[in-house]
Amino acid sequence: MEDKVLVFGHKNPDTDSICSSIVMADLANKLGYDAEPVRLGSLNKESEFALNAAGVEAQRQISKVEEGDKLILVDHNEAGQSVDGRENAEVVMVIDHHRISDFSTNNPLYYIAKPYGCTSTILYELYKQHDFDISKEMATLMLSAIISDTLLLKSPTCTEKDVEALNELEKIAELNAAEYGLELLKAGTDLSEYTSQEVINLDAKEVDGNGKKIVIAQVNAAQIDDVYSRKEELSFAIEKEISDRELDLFVFVITDIINSNSKLMCFGNEKAVCEKAFGVELDEEDTMFLEGVVSRKKQILPKILENI
Ligand code: MN
Ligand code: MN
Repeated sequence: MEDKVLVFGHKNPDTDSICSSIVMADLANKLGYDAEPVRLGSLNKESEFALNAAGVEAQRQISKVEEGDKLILVDHNEAGQSVDGRENAEVVMVIDHHRISDFSTNNPLYYIAKPYGCTSTILYELYKQHDFDISKEMATLMLSAIISDTLLLKSPTCTEKDVEALNELEKIAELNAAEYGLELLKAGTDLSEYTSQEVINLDAKEVDGNGKKIVIAQVNAAQIDDVYSRKEELSFAIEKEISDRELDLFVFVITDIINSNSKLMCFGNEKAVCEKAFGVELDEEDTMFLEGVVSRKKQILPKILENI
């Protein structure tokens, strides 16, 4: 038996990180590893919905790894989004669909990066390549991850490969992707139980931009006002996060998943970068509305990084 490996996605895990780590552990076990899926944070409502639909238990949560641990990373590679203590552990494999940044290892490794809309689409291809059977549970998890990352195939990050995978997976999962997908995405818009501090951290990603500390957080909403009605407490929480973590810019993105638009709340000393990046002026509440913008990875982050 091979050494034990831990399989996990990024901090503040989204549905792709939760589902793809469980699916990757299944694949890794088929490949002869002794793999355990873990997670670096609590489940959001959308991921909970996906796990319930698949009838799969949530994986164990960890906060750090130890020297000598072997790791498989899915859905991320950047150190700031990864597990604490990673520098002392050994990354044996990465399966990701993000830009590669500040990533290095001491040993050779498997690294699969594809510019698809979702990590699970890469995993789906791995099952095919190895001629492994896909169980109904794993199909439901991969289907959920693809729906979540591509906003039901509507995000500009969505590729032909994601559409192909989704079409095959909905048969194996015995689910109607359009119907199930809307339920799944709606489950994720229920933020009623979260404090504002939790809301701004649910899906927050920290990135380094030219030496500036930037956080871009995103939540989905059926209507922007469902979230923006809490603007006072949200602004307060964002300002507190900026001072506690000495951030230069915090962008909170509220995405309307029905009409595919986003409202950005831009805070911090570098907030003017957003005006430059999108060619739109901030209003008196430091927000801007961006028509047709839903993807942090493709439509928001690159523009901010180019302009900072
Ligand atoms: Mn993710
Ligand atoms: Mn992803």
